[in-house]
Amino acid sequence: MKIGLVGLPRAGKSTVFNALTGLNAETGYSSAPGKKHVGTVKVPDQRVDALSRLYKPKKTVYAEIAFTDLGGGAGPGLDRAVLNAMREVDALCQVVRAFPEESGKSPDPLNEIADLETETILADFEIVERRIARLQKDRSNPRELALLERILAGLEAEKPVRAIGLDDRERTMLSGYRFLSQMPLLLVLNVAEDQIAAPPPQHVIRAAQERALGLTVLSAQVEMDIAHMPSEEQPEFVESLGLDEPAKNRFIRAAYALIDLISMLTAGPDECRAWPIARRTRAPRAAGKIHSDIERGFIRVEVVPWQDLIALGSEAKCREAGKLRVEGKEYIIQDGDVVHFRFNV
Ligand code: GDP
Repeated sequence: MKIGLVGLPRAGKSTVFNALTGLNAETGYSSAPGKKHVGTVKVPDQRVDALSRLYKPKKTVYAEIAFTDLGGGAGPGLDRAVLNAMREVDALCQVVRAFPEESGKSPDPLNEIADLETETILADFEIVERRIARLQKDRSNPRELALLERILAGLEAEKPVRAIGLDDRERTMLSGYRFLSQMPLLLVLNVAEDQIAAPPPQHVIRAAQERALGLTVLSAQVEMDIAHMPSEEQPEFVESLGLDEPAKNRFIRAAYALIDLISMLTAGPDECRAWPIARRTRAPRAAGKIHSDIERGFIRVEVVPWQDLIALGSEAKCREAGKLRVEGKEYIIQDGDVVHFRFNV
């Protein structure tokens, strides 16, 4: 799963990327169009931490997502190379500048949010217009034509595709287009160092709510400093900032939820692990993430919610207490289920 960082030049994308990955991509004026940095990030997960404390396993494995810094382009608008790269990721995080620039230029987050929205709407508009012209000519698919005409009317009214009420069937019909204004989007407000413990400004909260978008706040500069610090010094520094964990943890979890992934957990003396699976995945399919043999030979799955396992201390105790359930192949795995598959090959 890939998440793209987008935003206007100098919003702080490279800095956020470095904070997330602990890498050292160049910041400042390096936003060459089409530049792409990719880094893999572990999804912080207190459930895995807790299971790991319980089992003291040889290995602890967190879910991972890949972040790509898509760059911004040089001009006020997004470069075409950036727009194309945006279509290749699963979800977008827009870094929005809310800190004053060195020149003293004050931030204008609402404008940045609206700007990116307009750019994605225009890019989608071009595609829809072209496709409609073709469908009108060859009359091959009247249903798709009618749907695209509805989309076009929405885009003309400056509505992103995600705000045009579509049902599942319509969404499937459109999935090949990879509309930018339909992609899951999380706003990342990059605030000044002295604002990290403050709530985001009301007008930004409203802008996010109106669009039904998620909003997370961090100071990329501070987060990058934390990421580059020796790990034993990090907790004390984080606490001195008035935070209970680095803001990037919250951000990574929000990004993970954005692509509709949940975590199935496995626990034991060898390994405690979070397995990313799509929401609403049935047990056999989820088993296939671990190994295709387990999916093929699936018999049943024993499930215990992670809180119960932590509270009671072992699977045996959970069984005694009636907290361990046996489920069949129709069972839909829930976020935080600790699972044990029974299979036969
Ligand atoms: P990009 O063009 O979006 O990739 O932006 P960069 O990450 O290169 O950041 C642009 C400039 O803003 C750099 O000089 C960063 O050091 C600075 N910057 C980024 N985030 C922050 C922040 O949270 N606070 C402050 N004061 N400066 C920041």
